[in-house]
Amino acid sequence: MPLSEFALIDRYFRKAGAMRSDVHVGVGDDAALLQSPSGSDLVAAMDTLVEGVHFPHGSPPASIGHRVLAVNLSDLAAMGAQPAWALLALTLPKIDEHWLEEFTAGLAALARAYDVALVGGDTTSGPLSVTVQILGHVAKSTALLRSRGRAGDRVFVSGTPGDAAAGLAIEQARLPASCDPDGYLRKRFLYPSPRLALGECLRGYATACIDVSDGLLGDAGKLAHASGCGVDIAFSDVPVSEELVNAVGERRARELALTGGDDYELCFTVPPAEVDRLRHNLPPERWGYCCIGTLRESPGAAVTDHGNVIEFSHSGYDHFAP
Ligand code: ADP
Ligand code: MG
Repeated sequence: MPLSEFALIDRYFRKAGAMRSDVHVGVGDDAALLQSPSGSDLVAAMDTLVEGVHFPHGSPPASIGHRVLAVNLSDLAAMGAQPAWALLALTLPKIDEHWLEEFTAGLAALARAYDVALVGGDTTSGPLSVTVQILGHVAKSTALLRSRGRAGDRVFVSGTPGDAAAGLAIEQARLPASCDPDGYLRKRFLYPSPRLALGECLRGYATACIDVSDGLLGDAGKLAHASGCGVDIAFSDVPVSEELVNAVGERRARELALTGGDDYELCFTVPPAEVDRLRHNLPPERWGYCCIGTLRESPGAAVTDHGNVIEFSHSGYDHFAP
C-alpha cells in the first residue's frame, strides 16, 4: 500500500537532522518554533535543485540530498554564519521509498555533521525538485558581505575550483570516466564540502566574501561589482588539483577552475596590510586557500597570463542566458 503523505513525513523527515535544544517545535505542527540566541543576527538563505538543470536525471538520491543542503550551507559559510535549522520543500513525481531512504540518508548525514535540525517543510507531487531553506546565526553586525571590498584588497579562493565541473562532465559522459580513475572529480560534484569553518574564521580578516557556485571568474566579478570595484586575476595563480590536471591538462584545468560551476568554495578579499596576520593565524597550508588576484578601481573582471589578457566566451553559469 502506498504511504500517505503524513506517514511519509513521519517516516523520513521527523528525525532526519540533528537534535537541537533551541527547537521548541519541529516537524509535525503547522510551523516550527525556534529560539534565536540574543546578540546575534538571524541569517536566512534558500536554494532549489531541479532535476535536469542542477543535477542529471538519475543522479544518486544520496547526492541530491547532500547537495541541496550543502549549497545552502555554503551560502551561510560565505556570510561567516553558523547554521542551525533547515526546512525542506520536496516535489516528487511518485513515492519511491528506496529513493526517499537514500535521499534522506544523504541529507541527514550532512545535517548531523553540522548540527543542523530539520524543522519543517512541504511535500508535493510534480517533476522532481528539491528546495532547502537554511536558517542560522552570526554575532550581531559581524556577517561577511559581498560589498565591503576595496580597491587594492587581495583576492583569495579556497580549495581547488574546477573539479566539480569536470566531475559533472564525467557524469554526463562529456568527458571519459577513464580520466577520473579514483572517482575523485565525480565525488567533488556529487558531495561538495561547504567551507563553514573557514567562513566563520574569516570574520575579522575578510572585507568581502562570496561562495563560488556559478564559476570563480563570474563570482569574483560579482563580489567586485558589489564592492564598487573590478578584479584582476592572475591565470597562473588559480589553484587546480592534481586530479583535474591529470584529467584535462593544466591549461584546460585553469579554464575550468575559472568558468566551471558547482565548486562551493569561498572567494574573499583581505586588505594588503592584513594578509600577514591572516596567513599567520589561518595558515594557508592548513586552511587550503591561496591568493589569485587584486581588486581594482575600474569595473570588470580580467584574467591575465604573463601580461596578456585572456578572453573567456563566458565567465560562469547563467540560468537565463540566451
Ligand atoms: P500543513 O498542511 O499545515 O502545511 P503539512 O501536512 O504540509 O502541514 O506538514 C505537516 C508537518 O510536516 C509540518 O510540520 C511540516 O513542516 C512538515 N513537513 C512536511 N513536508 C516536509 C518535508 N519534506 N521535510 C520536513 N518536514 C516536512
Ligand atoms: Mg504544508
